[in-house]
Amino acid sequence: MKPLVLIAEDEPAQVEMLRYNLEASELNTIVATDGRSALLLLEEETPDLVVLDWMLPELSGIEVCRQIRQRRESKSLPIIMLTARGEESDRIRGLETGADDYLVKPFSPNELVARIRALLRRTRPALAEEKLDYNDVQMDLVEHRVTRNGEPIRLGPTEFRLLRFFLERPGRVFSREHLLDHVWGRDVYVESRTVDVHIRRLRKALNVHGDPDIIRTVRGAGYSLDVNAS
Ligand code: CA
Repeated sequence: MKPLVLIAEDEPAQVEMLRYNLEASELNTIVATDGRSALLLLEEETPDLVVLDWMLPELSGIEVCRQIRQRRESKSLPIIMLTARGEESDRIRGLETGADDYLVKPFSPNELVARIRALLRRTRPALAEEKLDYNDVQMDLVEHRVTRNGEPIRLGPTEFRLLRFFLERPGRVFSREHLLDHVWGRDVYVESRTVDVHIRRLRKALNVHGDPDIIRTVRGAGYSLDVNAS
């Protein structure tokens, strides 16, 4: 599964260069050309990382970064900031706002791809693996099997996809609507309480041996995979 990168950049030539190089490196991309649409796109899609230009119309990159960090569902989303400025004070300001890494323009596309890979490896090791695990739960994507503490866990297809979605993004909080869009698909009509039904089944299956709950219900927000759930 290819990681999805949100490119927030307003200069068309830069967008083209970034898109071309990231897609050539087995990364999927979506693009926002101003700060406000970057934040909107974040509500609709589930990027694994953001490449964020400092100078953006509508809302600056710094402000976008700040807002991403303030939102519960995206506070740990990896961000690489791009800027034309090279001053140390700007660099520090960028990192203080919550960017994970920082590149000064002009940079080599290879350098950016290397930084993206490094950041994804650090934050989302699951993207490169055929096995996903979290705490004592393990999912084998090749054999389509789930175990907890080595004991097999039986899951229906929807619960399997739901668990996979969580295992790939541990700690992040997802609303019911978001889960519907990304686990069920946008073309399928299901009510949001359907999510609750499948979460309940997933919990029941995972806790069959009396293990602690690892899915957290966040009131008014949704669900997340969280070992400190109970
Ligand atoms: Ca710009």
